[in-house]
Amino acid sequence: MNGVLRTAEPPVSGTVGSALQSVPIANPGDTLDGFVPPSVHQRQSFDFMIVGAGFAGAVLAERLASQAGKRVLICDRRSHIAGNAYDHFDDAGVLVHRYGPHIFPTNSQRVVDYLSRFTEWHPYEHRVLAEVDGQLLPMPISRATVNELYGLDLKDDASCAEYFASIAEPVEQVRTSEDIVVSRVGRDLYNKFIRGYTRKQWGLDPSQLDASVCARVAPRVSDDRRYFTDSFQAMPKYGFTRMFERILAHPNIKILLNTDYREVIGLIPFDRMIYTGPIDEFFHLRFGKLPYRSLEFRFETHAREWAQPVAVVNYPNNHAYTRSTEFKHLTGQDHPKTSVVYEYPTDNGDPYYPVPRPENADLYRQYRELAETTPDVFFAGRLATYKYYDMHQVVAQALSVFENIVATPKGVPAPELVSVTR
Ligand SMILES: Cc1cc2nc3c(=O)[nH]c(=O)nc-3n(C[C@H](O)[C@H](O)[C@H](O)COP(=O)(O)OP(=O)(O)OC[C@H]3O[C@@H](n4cnc5c(N)ncnc54)[C@H](O)[C@@H]3O)c2cc1C
Repeated sequence: MNGVLRTAEPPVSGTVGSALQSVPIANPGDTLDGFVPPSVHQRQSFDFMIVGAGFAGAVLAERLASQAGKRVLICDRRSHIAGNAYDHFDDAGVLVHRYGPHIFPTNSQRVVDYLSRFTEWHPYEHRVLAEVDGQLLPMPISRATVNELYGLDLKDDASCAEYFASIAEPVEQVRTSEDIVVSRVGRDLYNKFIRGYTRKQWGLDPSQLDASVCARVAPRVSDDRRYFTDSFQAMPKYGFTRMFERILAHPNIKILLNTDYREVIGLIPFDRMIYTGPIDEFFHLRFGKLPYRSLEFRFETHAREWAQPVAVVNYPNNHAYTRSTEFKHLTGQDHPKTSVVYEYPTDNGDPYYPVPRPENADLYRQYRELAETTPDVFFAGRLATYKYYDMHQVVAQALSVFENIVATPKGVPAPELVSVTR
């Protein structure tokens, strides 16, 4: 089969390109010279302007339109919906994720139930191998990893726990990412699997990074080779973008792409705003720029069916890129060719990863205080809350923000921003 997922995708009613018909649209670079705005009674007005068509913006648009009967304009400066989760068929017809691999594990039944209204699921359990000492070894570090790396024969969880305890380095107070790893599995595993990868990813040594960064991928004593252990592990059957098309297919929702909201402020009347872009930009960088780590992506298509044994291979010690991802493992697509993406971390580019350092948390706090006194604007999503949230966390946050919005009268600042834990 060429360029299609295994099952034909059903049509969506109310397509995304339908966008705006009677609303004046400014394109990037347009000037307002000679532009005569339509009189107020000619204009379409909206209850909500939503900035950003990623998970946060799309879920809120859908809830407001379908549950509260609100008219919503959702705008994005990119040329597509779905934010960082955007996927599309490349020139060879392989479904790829433009902003790096997006995998969907969650323990939240509420989030699964909500998204299941807009997609069917393709079961997928994520697997990652790390290239270490010429071998491809399971990540996160587990009993399987140390058995294969050191030629051990640890038979059960208890013997592995004992082994980790014997190689762990005592750390009085765990503060940094180096502390947390060496205190769990010792220095050799830290040096082989974690240090080089983290230095590439963040441009900082783990000793300079908050413990939370490396705590995300905890070592385990079992020989479970899956990357995640969440109760629900699957991918949207027809891809993320298709799912977003369905989320946004409500007649009360209009979509405006290729447009920074600042280009249309004053042209399109609306009552209240939901902002899912970078919070520092919203306040014109008043307290300074919040730092982000970014990525450059190199996509390659290979004229063979498979390129690597699992979806993701990490390269902690070799190459300038951190990892390679072969999409067909994730999507379940049948195709005679295969596409792979290589990720090169950088300080410049789209804002992807908030840098978790105490001075950045302080800076964010200043913006948050400002956000909490700004009436009629609700802040949601990853960039507006300067947190590394996974997709399911952003969906959960958006569902809670919707409840806040419904409970907050016009003219009143939004309640404290909702934060979400795994
Ligand atoms: C490389 C990478 C890999 C990831 N992998 C995973 C994964 O495997 N699993 C997982 O659960 N999560 C993953 N994530 C996280 C996931 O991408 C986020 O949780 C999710 O995309 C957040 O949704 P959001 O709506 O908050 O933000 P976004 O998806 O970033 O959407 C925000 C949107 O706002 C738009 N915008 C910003 N400013 C303006 C403006 N001024 N005017 C108009 N539009 C604007 C942006 O263009 C963007 O489209 C990954 C993230 C990255 C960067």
